[in-house]
Amino acid sequence: MNRLLVSAASFAMAFAAFAPAVAQAQELRPIMVQNNCYKSIRLWIRHADGWRNWHNHGHFVFAGNERALYLTDNGVRLSQRTDHSLYFYAEAINGTGTWHGTIPVNVNGYILQMREANYSLQYGAYQILLTC
Ligand SMILES: [Zn+2]
Repeated sequence: MNRLLVSAASFAMAFAAFAPAVAQAQELRPIMVQNNCYKSIRLWIRHADGWRNWHNHGHFVFAGNERALYLTDNGVRLSQRTDHSLYFYAEAINGTGTWHGTIPVNVNGYILQMREANYSLQYGAYQILLTC
């Protein structure tokens, strides 16, 4: 076997191994939020539904202890790439607390200190659980 053929075969094998990972990386999951706190909250989200294609949305309002809801904007369900991080900021509407982090995000001229969301997989969706 000549050298060129060997490297072409190596490349094909590497590509074959890489291709399924790329397909998996492009998976999208709907985003749900469950407010398990008794307080009503406002929430903003920063998500990516394409490669480095980030959007901010909000605010969304949740009543205290409301059931899990899908996040939608203009009737479109928001989704998240499985290989990108998801961020949010939330605050109690009565001003008694926030769910924040250290990542400053400019949302319509306001700087919100967002945090990376921890979520669980529920029925194929990423579910953020808020507790207080
Ligand atoms: Zn978006």
